[in-house]
Amino acid sequence: MLNLTKSAEAFAEAKTLMPGGVNSPVRSYASVDSNPPFIARAEGAKIYDIDGNEYIDYVGSWGPMVVGHAHPQVVKALQEAAARGTSYGAPTLIESELAKLVMKVYPSIETIRMVNSGTEATMSALRLARGYTGREKIVKFIGCYHGHSDSLLVNAGSGMATFGVPSSPGVTKGTAADTISIPYNDLEAFSEVMERCGEEIAAVIVEPVAGNMGLVLPRQGYLRKLREITEKHGTLLIFDEVMCGFRASLGGAQAAYGITPDLTCLGKIIGGGLPVAAYGGRRDIMQKVSPAGPVYQAGTLSGNPLAMTAGLETLRIITAEPEDGKADYSRELTIKTKKLLLGWQEKAKNAGVAIQAHQAGSMFGIFFNEHEVWDYEDSASSDQEAFKVWFQAMLEQGIYLAPSQFETLFLSGAHTDEDIERTIEAAEKAFGIVHNLSA
Ligand SMILES: *Cc1c(COP(=O)(O)O)cnc(C)c1O
Repeated sequence: MLNLTKSAEAFAEAKTLMPGGVNSPVRSYASVDSNPPFIARAEGAKIYDIDGNEYIDYVGSWGPMVVGHAHPQVVKALQEAAARGTSYGAPTLIESELAKLVMKVYPSIETIRMVNSGTEATMSALRLARGYTGREKIVKFIGCYHGHSDSLLVNAGSGMATFGVPSSPGVTKGTAADTISIPYNDLEAFSEVMERCGEEIAAVIVEPVAGNMGLVLPRQGYLRKLREITEKHGTLLIFDEVMCGFRASLGGAQAAYGITPDLTCLGKIIGGGLPVAAYGGRRDIMQKVSPAGPVYQAGTLSGNPLAMTAGLETLRIITAEPEDGKADYSRELTIKTKKLLLGWQEKAKNAGVAIQAHQAGSMFGIFFNEHEVWDYEDSASSDQEAFKVWFQAMLEQGIYLAPSQFETLFLSGAHTDEDIERTIEAAEKAFGIVHNLSA
């Protein structure tokens, strides 16, 4: 039995200090009816709590830790950067270095602006789209999460899905009315909206590989149609690749599916575990951003040298030329992820537990569902009780997963074949427990 005595005490105190005891909702474990381990440190693929338990980590800080925790190259660069001062609020060379590297991997980004969180990136991209087109409405998809800015907190995924909140109190009716939300992967619903009011719609924002309703992949040809139809109506297409960027493939979903969006939002990995995100895209659109243009957006800590350093070192590692005969970094990750997921599928099948297993590069996840999962409604029809039991059984065996079926899991370069074997063995036992529950 996992001993979490110290974590439980720490959580009790934290609840007197922060809403729900946390600084971001899903961390609270409220969705799995238990208390979260309090983390003391992490290294490579492992994370350690204050009770002394060790886990193999598939949360990876919800995506950023693609090279593993405390990677020596990143740590060294950060130590050196910290010694040069942590913030100047003035231009630095490293901002341009990171910009150039990102643009090399994302050719659709001709001009980029660094910000501090994915929320800021999507919020700013929307403001820009509205400023550029002179239109006010936006389209988003149910179950896609784009951070917590007002316009985007309508039928959102992630914590909103986990806690069953359709639309947040505090978002004005006017703001919500400008956001049209329709099911993901439903071309008919999309075409209908665009036919009806395409000329009023500034932007369509989408997670091209959706990771905040669990991992849901776009249907064949879906993204291409979004591109064609938005173009026809002069509506901007925004790819929110905050999660799937550098994961679905190195060049994100846009490279994997061969689509060029007008604007792209990046986050998570781009900061290598420090708070960085960015938005960018077509130069003519980005030239509307202040001070080049009139659409205002700013940030005291934007382009912060420590954060830029963590992002740059992380991207250097994952974009490095592979040694002779080896696959590149993201290809390796994809292969390892596939191995893990195939193992889980086999163990589930042996245990007689129906799951849907999804993968996009180094993102993966399962649904306890007999039916295919293509949108939020499908995802929400999955067996939440089975998930809770599975989650707990995995945690007990030292496997640290996201505490919600509406989240995605991530592999890092630090996960070894042995880690994967252990995780598959743990899954065998956990699926057995899930099976006994329903038997
Ligand atoms: C995590 C996420 C965001 C929000 O990023 P924060 O840094 O948490 O504000 C936005 N969009 C997507 C697709 C995300 O996964």
